Amino acid sequence: MNTIQKNEVRTGKVVDLTHEGHGVVKIDRYPIFVPNSLIDETIEFKIIKVKKNFAIGKLLTIATTSPERVEPPCVYYYKCGGCQLQHMSYETQLAMKKEQVITLFHRKANFNSTIIGDTIGMTNPWRYRNKSQIPIGKNSDDQAIMGFYRQRSHDIINMDECLIQDEQHQHMMNFIKQCCNELNISIYNEKTKKGLLRHLVVRTGHHTNDLMVILVTNGKQFPQAQQLISRLIQNFPQVTSIKQNINTTHSNVIMGDQSYTLYGEDKIIDTLSEITFKISDQSFYQINSAQTEKLYQKAIDYANLAGNEIVLDTYCGIGTIGLYMAPKAKHVYGVEVVKEAIEDAKQNAQLNEFENTTFVCGKAEDVILQWKQEGVHPDVVMVDPPRKGCDETFLNTLLALEPKKIVYISCNPSTQQRDAQILATKYNLTQITPVDMFPQTTHVETVALFERLTSNE
Ligand code: SAH
Repeated sequence: MNTIQKNEVRTGKVVDLTHEGHGVVKIDRYPIFVPNSLIDETIEFKIIKVKKNFAIGKLLTIATTSPERVEPPCVYYYKCGGCQLQHMSYETQLAMKKEQVITLFHRKANFNSTIIGDTIGMTNPWRYRNKSQIPIGKNSDDQAIMGFYRQRSHDIINMDECLIQDEQHQHMMNFIKQCCNELNISIYNEKTKKGLLRHLVVRTGHHTNDLMVILVTNGKQFPQAQQLISRLIQNFPQVTSIKQNINTTHSNVIMGDQSYTLYGEDKIIDTLSEITFKISDQSFYQINSAQTEKLYQKAIDYANLAGNEIVLDTYCGIGTIGLYMAPKAKHVYGVEVVKEAIEDAKQNAQLNEFENTTFVCGKAEDVILQWKQEGVHPDVVMVDPPRKGCDETFLNTLLALEPKKIVYISCNPSTQQRDAQILATKYNLTQITPVDMFPQTTHVETVALFERLTSNE
């Protein structure tokens, strides 16, 4: 029986970490999750929520400090929900991410013989985001503010810098704030649903240094657009594209379906390992380019192409993985559900002069079946689904296609583990490598290699 009461102050030793990075203290086997505490720390905490199977505690004091504790460099860290691990040394973050994969695949499933590699980290785990999405609001003095939502709320906290964003983005953010005030630009209010400018989205080409600015507005009329554009290009000559995106919905989705080019190019260009990519504002593009190169390299190592293979790139986005593999494959087929992304993929194949690629817009689960019916026999299938993982019909078609290898990249190892159990009927999950795409946060990305079982295994 749990005897813990709300508002009680207790002391205990942290024995584990949750996947959200919260310390776990146990009192008579009843777990209390305490954010911002680390393993082996003896802490004093106040119980703020009591549930049947667990409680939540608020850290008050640390009696014994872990050697893994570091001072979070960001002044907004404890208010902002963006990062969760800044109080933990980077080595510990990498170890924690590997440990989570071990727990999921070795302890919670039977993939005991799967080799789980060390998490591939960054040399400098800051300033890695090539895309920032910043909400805009007003403070009580009617001045424009831009920053982040307070944890578990939609109150905007004004900020001047974010240490995981590209530094140019914060200069752009502070400049736009100033322009909003000077040009008296109407600003959207989430409560009244009135006002114009809602979000600033900035994208940088990691290797090209191209800069795309997207002004997300609640409606098309934008009276001060020309004045804002001329100020922007005068102060930021590296801007290659300014777009207006219209979002009149009242949901949490940041961008709407319609975009217009206000200045410059309609797409941003980036290069990854000598391949050039044009990226529309609506297309998915990995946000940490330096780590993307390592992730894709690992995936290519796992695929180990000899040059005569048929490769499928499923959930392909703008075709990055498939185009990376095209020089080493006989033919690459890509599928993706977002129309703009597939148009980018086709254009990118042309731009890089690859003639051995086919990109199709549709749901991976439908298109893979269509390819099977057309007699496509893949040797290697790359799988890179969104957080919810793969549709079961997709996995069943994949099993029926029997490629020699499946390389499965995932931004959510728990759905990957679920899908792996279906693939395990015909495949041996030989290796998994976590790659740290999102330092300072709890997000874990993995790449896994499945090899077809031979009939006598
Ligand atoms: N491989 C790409 C994109 C990975 S993100 C890269 O590395 O950049 C996952 C992609 O899956 C997104 O582009 C998303 O639009 C797409 N997607 C989501 N559901 C899908 C489905 N059912 N079929 C095909 N693509 C889908």
